Amino acid sequence: MIRCAECGLGYVPEVLEDAKYHRIYHDKKVNGIRYRRAKSEALIWEEGDFRITVANFFSATCQSVRAQQVGLLAWEDTKFCFGRYHSNEPLDDRNIHNFLLYCKNRVVGLVIAERRSFIEKFTWESWANAGGRQLLDRFREA
Ligand SMILES: [Zn+2]
Repeated sequence: MIRCAECGLGYVPEVLEDAKYHRIYHDKKVNGIRYRRAKSEALIWEEGDFRITVANFFSATCQSVRAQQVGLLAWEDTKFCFGRYHSNEPLDDRNIHNFLLYCKNRVVGLVIAERRSFIEKFTWESWANAGGRQLLDRFREA
């Protein structure tokens, strides 16, 4: 087994199915997921080869699924244990909006915006020292 230095996937190149899976995964990871322009896109900006669409609870299912697929791929690049978007989540107070940046027909950027009643920045160490969940409860009470 080898691990691709660019996409990070471990695979066995001599196994045809593995090599094929790597080729597809690698292309998505390195170049962005390819989607055709669709009438269901909510276009909010476009200039040259670039455009930004937004997907939220009220979007067509295919657009929410796009946001989910891109979110999963982006999430793999982060050290966060949360932050992925799930297309089948019910509408709640967060009112999540996914902004997808396309270059031609590939999604190359993602911003997930959601309403929060509070925000706080802390390190994993400070989180653990404060007893994890208790830290959040303290801020909720404030
Ligand atoms: Zn690769």
